[in-house]
Amino acid sequence: MSTMRFGGRTYRNGDLPSAVLDELVPFGRHGTSAASRAFLRSDAAGSWNRAAREIRSEAGLDLTARGWNRSRSEQEAFFLQRYRRGARSPYGDYRRYAGSTWGRVDGAAAAVPGYSNHGWGLAVDVNDFGGVGEFGNARRGAAFPILRNHGWTETEGRRVDEPWHLVYSPSADRGAGRRSAAAESRRPRRPPTIKLGSRTPRWTRLWKAFLAAERVYGANTGPSFGEELEEATRTWQKRAGIVPDGVVGPKTWFAAIEDVRPGRKGPAVKIAQEIAGLTGRHVDGVAGSVFATRWKQIQRWLGVVPDARIGDATIAALVRKA
Ligand SMILES: [Zn+2]
Repeated sequence: MSTMRFGGRTYRNGDLPSAVLDELVPFGRHGTSAASRAFLRSDAAGSWNRAAREIRSEAGLDLTARGWNRSRSEQEAFFLQRYRRGARSPYGDYRRYAGSTWGRVDGAAAAVPGYSNHGWGLAVDVNDFGGVGEFGNARRGAAFPILRNHGWTETEGRRVDEPWHLVYSPSADRGAGRRSAAAESRRPRRPPTIKLGSRTPRWTRLWKAFLAAERVYGANTGPSFGEELEEATRTWQKRAGIVPDGVVGPKTWFAAIEDVRPGRKGPAVKIAQEIAGLTGRHVDGVAGSVFATRWKQIQRWLGVVPDARIGDATIAALVRKA
Protein backbone atom coordinates (compact mmCIF):
# COMPACT_ATOMS: atom_id res chain seq x y z
CA MET A 1 0.00 0.00 0.00
CA SER A 2 1.39 3.36 -0.96
CA THR A 3 0.41 6.88 0.02
CA MET A 4 0.19 10.23 -1.69
CA ARG A 5 0.26 13.84 -0.53
CA PHE A 6 -2.30 16.14 -2.08
CA GLY A 7 -3.51 19.52 -0.90
CA GLY A 8 -1.58 19.18 2.36
CA ARG A 9 -3.05 15.79 3.32
CA THR A 10 -1.97 12.18 2.97
CA TYR A 11 -4.17 9.65 1.20
CA ARG A 12 -3.97 5.92 0.66
CA ASN A 13 -4.27 4.49 -2.83
CA GLY A 14 -7.88 3.63 -3.65
CA ASP A 15 -9.12 5.65 -0.72
CA LEU A 16 -9.63 9.19 -2.05
CA PRO A 17 -12.55 10.97 -0.38
CA SER A 18 -15.12 12.69 -2.58
CA ALA A 19 -13.82 16.06 -1.33
CA VAL A 20 -10.72 15.75 -3.53
CA LEU A 21 -12.56 14.32 -6.55
CA ASP A 22 -14.32 16.19 -9.35
CA GLU A 23 -16.63 14.96 -12.05
CA LEU A 24 -15.70 14.63 -15.73
CA VAL A 25 -17.90 16.57 -18.15
CA PRO A 26 -20.41 14.12 -19.63
CA PHE A 27 -19.83 14.57 -23.36
CA GLY A 28 -21.78 11.36 -23.88
CA ARG A 29 -22.06 8.36 -21.61
CA HIS A 30 -19.15 7.40 -19.41
CA GLY A 31 -18.69 3.75 -18.48
CA THR A 32 -19.35 0.63 -20.48
CA SER A 33 -22.93 -0.29 -19.59
CA ALA A 34 -25.23 1.84 -17.46
CA ALA A 35 -24.75 5.60 -17.40
CA SER A 36 -22.07 6.42 -14.89
CA ARG A 37 -20.64 9.52 -13.41
CA ALA A 38 -16.89 9.59 -13.78
CA PHE A 39 -14.52 11.13 -11.22
CA LEU A 40 -10.83 11.94 -10.98
CA ARG A 41 -8.65 13.81 -8.51
CA SER A 42 -9.74 17.45 -8.79
CA ASP A 43 -6.67 18.71 -10.69
CA ALA A 44 -6.83 15.77 -13.13
CA ALA A 45 -10.58 16.28 -13.61
CA GLY A 46 -10.05 19.99 -14.25
CA SER A 47 -7.42 19.20 -16.85
CA TRP A 48 -9.56 16.51 -18.49
CA ASN A 49 -12.51 18.89 -18.70
CA ARG A 50 -10.38 21.64 -20.25
CA ALA A 51 -8.91 19.19 -22.76
CA ALA A 52 -12.30 17.64 -23.56
CA ARG A 53 -13.80 21.06 -24.34
CA GLU A 54 -10.85 21.95 -26.53
CA ILE A 55 -11.06 18.58 -28.34
CA ARG A 56 -14.77 19.17 -28.93
CA SER A 57 -14.15 22.60 -30.47
CA GLU A 58 -10.86 21.87 -32.28
CA ALA A 59 -11.35 18.27 -33.43
CA GLY A 60 -15.13 17.84 -33.24
CA LEU A 61 -14.80 14.80 -30.97
CA ASP A 62 -16.68 14.09 -27.74
CA LEU A 63 -14.54 12.11 -25.34
CA THR A 64 -15.94 9.74 -22.75
CA ALA A 65 -14.17 7.45 -20.31
CA ARG A 66 -14.72 3.88 -19.22
CA GLY A 67 -12.26 3.91 -16.35
CA TRP A 68 -11.39 6.60 -13.78
CA ASN A 69 -10.81 6.79 -10.05
CA ARG A 70 -10.89 3.26 -8.65
CA SER A 71 -11.41 2.31 -5.03
CA ARG A 72 -9.28 -0.36 -3.42
CA SER A 73 -12.08 -2.95 -3.70
CA GLU A 74 -12.65 -2.15 -7.37
CA GLN A 75 -8.93 -2.60 -7.98
CA GLU A 76 -9.06 -5.96 -6.22
CA ALA A 77 -12.06 -7.08 -8.28
CA PHE A 78 -10.19 -6.15 -11.47
CA PHE A 79 -7.02 -7.89 -10.39
CA LEU A 80 -8.76 -11.09 -9.27
CA GLN A 81 -10.63 -11.33 -12.60
CA ARG A 82 -7.37 -11.36 -14.50
CA TYR A 83 -4.69 -12.88 -12.27
CA ARG A 84 -4.54 -16.23 -10.45
CA ARG A 85 -2.31 -17.04 -7.50
CA GLY A 86 0.54 -19.29 -8.59
CA ALA A 87 -0.80 -19.61 -12.17
CA ARG A 88 1.33 -19.75 -15.31
CA SER A 89 0.64 -16.66 -17.45
CA PRO A 90 0.38 -17.09 -21.25
CA TYR A 91 1.28 -13.39 -21.39
CA GLY A 92 4.37 -13.77 -19.23
CA ASP A 93 2.82 -11.24 -16.83
CA TYR A 94 3.50 -11.99 -13.15
CA ARG A 95 2.81 -9.76 -10.13
CA ARG A 96 3.60 -9.99 -6.42
CA TYR A 97 0.49 -9.51 -4.34
CA ALA A 98 -0.50 -10.55 -0.81
CA GLY A 99 2.70 -12.52 -0.31
CA SER A 100 2.40 -14.63 -3.49
CA THR A 101 3.19 -14.51 -7.19
CA TRP A 102 0.15 -14.15 -9.43
CA GLY A 103 0.04 -14.84 -13.18
CA ARG A 104 -2.28 -13.04 -15.60
CA VAL A 105 -4.62 -15.58 -17.16
CA ASP A 106 -7.21 -13.34 -18.82
CA GLY A 107 -7.78 -9.83 -20.21
CA ALA A 108 -5.55 -6.79 -20.21
CA ALA A 109 -2.98 -6.02 -17.54
CA ALA A 110 -4.14 -4.68 -14.19
CA ALA A 111 -2.16 -2.93 -11.49
CA VAL A 112 -1.49 -4.60 -8.17
CA PRO A 113 -4.24 -3.37 -5.82
CA GLY A 114 -2.99 -0.41 -3.83
CA TYR A 115 -0.53 0.70 -6.50
CA SER A 116 -2.77 1.73 -9.39
CA ASN A 117 -2.77 5.22 -10.86
CA HIS A 118 -6.53 4.71 -11.02
CA GLY A 119 -6.38 4.50 -7.22
CA TRP A 120 -4.85 7.98 -7.15
CA GLY A 121 -7.61 9.34 -9.36
CA LEU A 122 -4.90 10.16 -11.91
CA ALA A 123 -5.54 7.54 -14.62
CA VAL A 124 -8.33 7.53 -17.15
CA ASP A 125 -9.33 4.86 -19.68
CA VAL A 126 -10.67 6.62 -22.77
CA ASN A 127 -13.41 5.10 -24.91
CA ASP A 128 -12.72 4.41 -28.62
CA PHE A 129 -8.97 5.01 -28.45
CA GLY A 130 -8.16 1.66 -30.10
CA GLY A 131 -7.75 -1.92 -28.91
CA VAL A 132 -4.68 -3.54 -27.35
CA GLY A 133 -1.56 -2.19 -29.08
CA GLU A 134 -3.54 -0.02 -31.55
CA PHE A 135 -1.76 3.26 -31.02
CA GLY A 136 -2.62 4.38 -34.58
CA ASN A 137 -6.35 4.83 -33.84
CA ALA A 138 -7.61 7.96 -35.67
CA ARG A 139 -9.66 9.41 -32.79
CA ARG A 140 -6.71 8.97 -30.52
CA GLY A 141 -4.45 10.56 -33.14
CA ALA A 142 -6.63 13.68 -33.20
CA ALA A 143 -7.27 13.95 -29.48
CA PHE A 144 -4.08 12.85 -27.78
CA PRO A 145 -1.90 15.83 -28.83
CA ILE A 146 -4.40 18.12 -27.08
CA LEU A 147 -4.59 15.86 -24.01
CA ARG A 148 -0.80 15.84 -23.88
CA ASN A 149 -0.76 19.65 -23.74
CA HIS A 150 -2.99 19.39 -20.71
CA GLY A 151 -0.65 17.00 -18.89
CA TRP A 152 -1.94 13.57 -19.98
CA THR A 153 0.84 11.06 -20.55
CA GLU A 154 0.90 7.74 -22.41
CA THR A 155 4.10 6.22 -21.03
CA GLU A 156 2.35 3.76 -18.74
CA GLY A 157 -0.24 2.89 -21.41
CA ARG A 158 2.53 2.16 -23.92
CA ARG A 159 4.30 -0.07 -21.43
CA VAL A 160 1.20 -2.28 -21.09
CA ASP A 161 0.03 -1.88 -24.74
CA GLU A 162 -3.14 0.02 -23.74
CA PRO A 163 -3.77 3.04 -26.01
CA TRP A 164 -6.76 4.02 -23.89
CA HIS A 165 -4.92 4.30 -20.57
CA LEU A 166 -3.60 7.82 -19.85
CA VAL A 167 -2.08 9.18 -16.66
CA TYR A 168 -2.24 12.80 -15.55
CA SER A 169 1.04 14.46 -14.63
CA PRO A 170 0.56 17.93 -13.08
CA SER A 171 4.13 18.95 -13.96
CA ALA A 172 3.46 18.22 -17.66
CA ASP A 173 0.25 20.29 -17.69
CA ARG A 174 0.81 23.33 -19.89
CA GLY A 175 -2.90 23.98 -20.32
CA ALA A 176 -3.36 25.75 -17.00
CA GLY A 177 -0.59 28.28 -17.49
CA ARG A 178 0.94 28.38 -20.91
CA ARG A 179 -1.31 28.27 -23.92
CA SER A 180 -1.94 25.04 -25.77
CA ALA A 181 -0.92 24.24 -29.34
CA ALA A 182 -4.38 25.01 -30.69
CA ALA A 183 -4.37 28.38 -28.99
CA GLU A 184 -0.88 29.06 -30.32
CA SER A 185 -2.16 28.68 -33.86
CA ARG A 186 -4.46 31.69 -33.28
CA ARG A 187 -1.48 33.90 -32.61
CA PRO A 188 -0.84 36.70 -35.12
CA ARG A 189 2.45 36.95 -36.95
CA ARG A 190 4.96 39.37 -35.46
CA PRO A 191 5.97 41.74 -38.27
CA PRO A 192 9.71 42.18 -38.89
CA THR A 193 11.60 45.36 -38.01
CA ILE A 194 12.71 47.13 -41.17
CA LYS A 195 14.95 50.18 -41.40
CA LEU A 196 17.51 51.99 -43.56
CA GLY A 197 19.38 49.39 -45.59
CA SER A 198 16.98 46.53 -44.74
CA ARG A 199 16.67 43.78 -47.30
CA THR A 200 13.11 42.65 -46.64
CA PRO A 201 11.56 43.47 -50.03
CA ARG A 202 8.01 42.27 -49.42
CA TRP A 203 7.55 44.17 -46.18
CA THR A 204 9.43 47.21 -47.52
CA ARG A 205 7.04 47.35 -50.49
CA LEU A 206 4.06 47.02 -48.16
CA TRP A 207 5.37 49.89 -46.08
CA LYS A 208 6.03 52.09 -49.13
CA ALA A 209 2.53 51.49 -50.45
CA PHE A 210 1.13 52.38 -47.04
CA LEU A 211 3.11 55.64 -46.76
CA ALA A 212 2.15 56.56 -50.32
CA ALA A 213 -1.53 56.11 -49.43
CA GLU A 214 -0.89 58.28 -46.36
CA ARG A 215 0.59 60.90 -48.74
CA VAL A 216 3.98 61.15 -47.08
CA TYR A 217 5.90 59.17 -49.68
CA GLY A 218 6.25 59.21 -53.45
CA ALA A 219 5.65 56.55 -56.01
CA ASN A 220 8.89 54.55 -55.55
CA THR A 221 7.78 50.96 -55.18
CA GLY A 222 11.22 49.33 -55.34
CA PRO A 223 12.45 46.72 -52.85
CA SER A 224 15.08 48.80 -51.00
CA PHE A 225 14.77 50.86 -47.82
CA GLY A 226 16.52 54.17 -48.61
CA GLU A 227 16.96 57.52 -46.88
CA GLU A 228 13.89 58.97 -48.51
CA LEU A 229 11.77 56.19 -47.02
CA GLU A 230 13.39 56.66 -43.64
CA GLU A 231 12.49 60.35 -43.72
CA ALA A 232 8.91 59.63 -44.77
CA THR A 233 8.67 57.09 -41.95
CA ARG A 234 9.74 59.74 -39.41
CA THR A 235 7.12 62.13 -40.77
CA TRP A 236 4.39 59.52 -40.44
CA GLN A 237 5.54 58.43 -36.97
CA LYS A 238 5.37 62.05 -35.74
CA ARG A 239 1.85 62.30 -37.07
CA ALA A 240 0.88 59.01 -35.37
CA GLY A 241 2.43 60.05 -32.07
CA ILE A 242 5.16 57.39 -32.14
CA VAL A 243 8.87 58.01 -31.45
CA PRO A 244 10.06 59.25 -34.89
CA ASP A 245 13.14 57.04 -35.25
CA GLY A 246 12.56 56.06 -38.88
CA VAL A 247 12.59 52.38 -37.87
CA VAL A 248 9.51 50.33 -38.70
CA GLY A 249 9.17 47.90 -35.80
CA PRO A 250 6.09 46.10 -34.44
CA LYS A 251 4.75 49.24 -32.73
CA THR A 252 4.81 51.20 -35.98
CA TRP A 253 3.29 48.30 -37.96
CA PHE A 254 0.49 47.92 -35.40
CA ALA A 255 -0.16 51.69 -35.42
CA ALA A 256 -0.47 51.49 -39.20
CA ILE A 257 -3.38 49.05 -39.03
CA GLU A 258 -5.38 51.03 -36.50
CA ASP A 259 -8.99 51.42 -37.62
CA VAL A 260 -8.78 48.68 -40.24
CA ARG A 261 -12.10 46.82 -40.23
CA PRO A 262 -14.33 44.73 -42.49
CA GLY A 263 -15.27 46.66 -45.62
CA ARG A 264 -12.04 48.70 -45.74
CA LYS A 265 -9.60 48.57 -48.66
CA GLY A 266 -6.00 49.58 -49.21
CA PRO A 267 -2.40 49.08 -48.07
CA ALA A 268 -3.24 49.14 -44.33
CA VAL A 269 -5.63 46.23 -44.89
CA LYS A 270 -2.86 44.36 -46.69
CA ILE A 271 -0.54 44.87 -43.72
CA ALA A 272 -3.29 43.60 -41.38
CA GLN A 273 -3.72 40.56 -43.62
CA GLU A 274 0.02 39.84 -43.47
CA ILE A 275 0.07 40.25 -39.70
CA ALA A 276 -2.90 37.88 -39.51
CA GLY A 277 -0.76 35.28 -41.28
CA LEU A 278 -3.06 35.11 -44.30
CA THR A 279 -1.46 34.07 -47.58
CA GLY A 280 -1.99 34.03 -51.33
CA ARG A 281 -5.23 35.53 -52.60
CA HIS A 282 -6.26 36.38 -49.04
CA VAL A 283 -3.62 39.15 -49.03
CA ASP A 284 -5.50 41.38 -51.48
CA GLY A 285 -5.96 44.61 -49.52
CA VAL A 286 -9.71 44.08 -49.15
CA ALA A 287 -11.06 43.32 -45.67
CA GLY A 288 -13.64 40.63 -46.41
CA SER A 289 -15.03 37.62 -44.58
CA VAL A 290 -11.76 35.67 -44.33
CA PHE A 291 -10.15 38.77 -42.86
CA ALA A 292 -12.99 39.12 -40.35
CA THR A 293 -12.94 35.47 -39.26
CA ARG A 294 -9.19 35.47 -38.81
CA TRP A 295 -9.05 38.74 -36.89
CA LYS A 296 -11.83 37.67 -34.55
CA GLN A 297 -9.79 34.57 -33.79
CA ILE A 298 -6.74 36.74 -33.06
CA GLN A 299 -8.81 39.04 -30.86
CA ARG A 300 -10.07 36.07 -28.84
CA TRP A 301 -6.47 35.02 -28.39
CA LEU A 302 -5.58 38.58 -27.33
CA GLY A 303 -8.50 38.65 -24.91
CA VAL A 304 -10.28 41.64 -26.47
CA VAL A 305 -13.75 41.98 -27.99
CA PRO A 306 -13.80 39.84 -31.18
CA ASP A 307 -15.37 42.28 -33.63
CA ALA A 308 -12.66 42.28 -36.37
CA ARG A 309 -12.25 46.04 -35.90
CA ILE A 310 -8.68 46.90 -35.09
CA GLY A 311 -9.13 49.59 -32.46
CA ASP A 312 -7.15 50.92 -29.50
CA ALA A 313 -7.69 47.86 -27.28
CA THR A 314 -6.58 45.48 -30.03
CA ILE A 315 -3.49 47.57 -30.81
CA ALA A 316 -2.54 47.75 -27.12
CA ALA A 317 -2.96 43.98 -26.74
CA LEU A 318 -0.92 43.36 -29.91
CA VAL A 319 1.94 45.51 -28.60
CA ARG A 320 1.83 43.65 -25.29
CA LYS A 321 1.41 40.07 -26.48
CA ALA A 322 2.20 39.57 -30.14
ZN1 LIG B 1 -6.39 2.22 -17.05
